[in-house]
Amino acid sequence: MTRNLLLTAASAALLTGCSGAAAGQDLYAGFTRIDPESRTLTENSYIIVEDGRIIGLGTGNPPDMDYRTVQDLTGTFGLPGFVDAHGHITAGPHAVEVVDGAPMVTMESREDVTEFHARMALAFGVTSVRNPGADPQANADYDRRIASGEWAGPDAVHAGAVMQPPPFGGNAFSYPQGREAWFAEAGRQAGLGMRYFKLYHGLSEDELALGIEAAHAHGLQAIAHLDQVSWLTAAELGIDGLLHALPTSSDLLEPEAAEAYLADRGPDSRFMYQWFEYADFDSPRIQRLIRELAERQIEVDLTLLVNELVYSDEGYQAVMREGDERYLHPDALESSEQFAELARTGWTDEDYARADAAMDNVHAFVRRLHAAGVPLLIGTDGPGGGPAYAMELQLHHAAGLDRWEVLRLATTASAEGIGFDNTGRLEEGREADIVFLEANPAEDLAHAREVHMVVTNGRAFTFDQLTAAPPQNLQNGEE
Ligand SMILES: [Zn+2]
Repeated sequence: MTRNLLLTAASAALLTGCSGAAAGQDLYAGFTRIDPESRTLTENSYIIVEDGRIIGLGTGNPPDMDYRTVQDLTGTFGLPGFVDAHGHITAGPHAVEVVDGAPMVTMESREDVTEFHARMALAFGVTSVRNPGADPQANADYDRRIASGEWAGPDAVHAGAVMQPPPFGGNAFSYPQGREAWFAEAGRQAGLGMRYFKLYHGLSEDELALGIEAAHAHGLQAIAHLDQVSWLTAAELGIDGLLHALPTSSDLLEPEAAEAYLADRGPDSRFMYQWFEYADFDSPRIQRLIRELAERQIEVDLTLLVNELVYSDEGYQAVMREGDERYLHPDALESSEQFAELARTGWTDEDYARADAAMDNVHAFVRRLHAAGVPLLIGTDGPGGGPAYAMELQLHHAAGLDRWEVLRLATTASAEGIGFDNTGRLEEGREADIVFLEANPAEDLAHAREVHMVVTNGRAFTFDQLTAAPPQNLQNGEE
């Protein structure tokens, strides 16, 4: 056992080109290791980390070595770091600016907000993020600061500016005119290191098609948050991923239901629950959609927190615990609350009751996709995890997925889904992205937020270290 481990350490050192003596090994010991893939708990486990990689793991007494650091994690539960496949980690607060006399919705990145998002994501155990859209320059800056260790935060893959017509604008949105401009924009984003191209709900079917083509021409994956253009159309056009449990196109409803839905549908956000009132998951159209998603292995991140938030008359209180405000940037929280309020202007008690009832159908939709083998990723639509991350897991469980499966989706499956093949499991040779929880999440997913310590790329932080400093440079003047 010991000899094997030392051989592995030596070969790992050779592979990384570092001498073991200079780098030093860190030992994490005494915890119960959770493997969501095999659904096992292994008591009294240890992990040895060197140079950001796991170089050994086992149970009982760890090998006798001259460790750089030793962490006694008795009583905690260690599992692969969580993945937020829909985390707006570099997004600044939404704002409405007046440009040339017309209102424009912007989402400009701010360094102080991003640094805080990154730290809070990590504090709640999220070590990998897929950022579904923001200023590509800010995203490239983020990657540089994480890689250099200047900021503590998750590793990320990004979509750059979101493709969406006005009134959305600024650096976080783009609306190219003409084929060449679409290809140029995809090329610009690819050049800045983006991995995804985000296509938004205001695009026409032709624009969606062009966006997918431009993305693929530049090696980007095309992902979309859609509304009137259907998920099925997007699937047939070659989309790689779909975002949010909101497949709200009338094209997915049978003719009579489609007519009634369109008659019901106003300019407001009620359609976000109304579609689920009309949807028949056994109908030929939706059956065909589910088959296509499964056959083409199109990744779907459902962000059930969005349904929960929009459908509840409590607003943000529905998805937060008392005191959670301190883990959210106040400027970002304020603008999100305002936008959530705006989205539900005119909703009556009857709307909230109907939306609440429609949540059963949202859950049924989750189960149908999962049972059919559609790859599901866990995403929050928040700033990159944070205190709501555990609730996203609980919502997937409430929809009918068992706890182990939800933990597998949150770690291994989502890591693979966003192309982080070298993390997502606790195995020799993989990146050391580990979260240590105070209680067992396989018993209660709410425990996923009880973070004791998190290790990212081999660096360890306690929850208290990451959450000690308040956000900097508050623009509203509070401190
Ligand atoms: Zn989003």
